[in-house]
Amino acid sequence: MKCTPLEPWIARKIGRANSPLTRADLEAYQLQKLRVTIDLARKKSPFYRQRLDGAPSDLSRLAGLTHLPFTTADDIRNEPLQLLCVSQDHIQRVVTLDSSGTTGSRKRLYFTQDDQELTIDFFCVGMSTLTNAGDRVLILLPGQTPGSVGDLLAIALGRLGATAIKHGPVSDPVAVLDLICRENVDVVVGVPAHLLALARQQVQSVRKLKSVLFATDYVCDAIRDTVQNTWQCMAFDHYGMTEMGLGGGVECDARRGYHLREADLLFEIVDLASGAALPDGAYGEVVFTTLTRHGMPLIRYRTGDIGRFIPGVCPCGTSLKTLERVAGRINGRVPVGNDTLTIADLDRALFAIGDVMNFSASLIRENQRDCLCLEVQLASENAATVSRSIAQSMAAMCSGVDLRISIVNSIPLTMAKRVIVDRRSR
Ligand SMILES: [Zn+2]
Repeated sequence: MKCTPLEPWIARKIGRANSPLTRADLEAYQLQKLRVTIDLARKKSPFYRQRLDGAPSDLSRLAGLTHLPFTTADDIRNEPLQLLCVSQDHIQRVVTLDSSGTTGSRKRLYFTQDDQELTIDFFCVGMSTLTNAGDRVLILLPGQTPGSVGDLLAIALGRLGATAIKHGPVSDPVAVLDLICRENVDVVVGVPAHLLALARQQVQSVRKLKSVLFATDYVCDAIRDTVQNTWQCMAFDHYGMTEMGLGGGVECDARRGYHLREADLLFEIVDLASGAALPDGAYGEVVFTTLTRHGMPLIRYRTGDIGRFIPGVCPCGTSLKTLERVAGRINGRVPVGNDTLTIADLDRALFAIGDVMNFSASLIRENQRDCLCLEVQLASENAATVSRSIAQSMAAMCSGVDLRISIVNSIPLTMAKRVIVDRRSR
């Protein structure tokens, strides 16, 4: 098994290109970059000048990070311009994210040209895990706007010597399957639900792929297995969010979790309630600090994702850490009947049923009982059999809840992260 290409890349970035990467060297680099970032934020960002007031001024070791306050999604929503460390003239790309918070305002993230270059550099090395020069790569992510994820990915693939085919998100699975054949595609990058829709639409396998990369949403084993079996390929998972500069980490050949951009981002896992740092192996909230960003650095940003570092060494042999596949968000677990449920639970149960192409889930309150409403799109005509299978799975998963299953002709594929929509009045 080859070592993750992130290791030599990070060794180069920290000035240790000619010696094996050690945690001690990496952490010394991270501490130095952390100090520079805190200094920059204190001097240039009105928000951080205030937020870091009274915090330790000079860290002597990385663990000192835990004495610094967190940055939250609401901080970015409330006054994003106050976080900037450069004038707006130096901002090349602004990303506005849909609101899911309490304030109603939307998150805005600002990136300089250099910040975007860091993302392209990571995409280039990350894609080299699963792509070679000469490969034809179909990008099923938004890519028309300069600086968008698909656009930066295409630039990165060009540097690798691969050919990028920018398509955009899947809306017509049949047309995309046709494109895969016509364009002799080797590698596909897309959203898990979109790739599953393609796989389930694919009646017979007509073209093998070399690899597939899942991006932007969590992926369950049922989707991964279906995609791998359909195209006889290796499927890899990527972890990232706009706040990280799109890219955060990517799986190696071992595919048991992500190796992270540890020269650009410093990751921590903290206790959900107390915010205290947790040791490797323990589950908590994923928190990161940017180490190399200039436009809008983020210090101890709480992602809302739940995760853990897998203890021990990855089979690929790297000294980089491995973040277990993230499978849920703190606010993604909703009480239902006598139990709780996440969209990941539903993905595991429903996508394991071979005919299910897509579904949406919502909760209503009826006759003093919770009712889970599932709209399900099928790849076959087996509505009665599938409905029975779904009812059996759901009965095993939660009690004290009614179930309403509607078989529908189509559910639009979106770029939004899938959630259980809670329509119960409280
Ligand atoms: Zn590895």
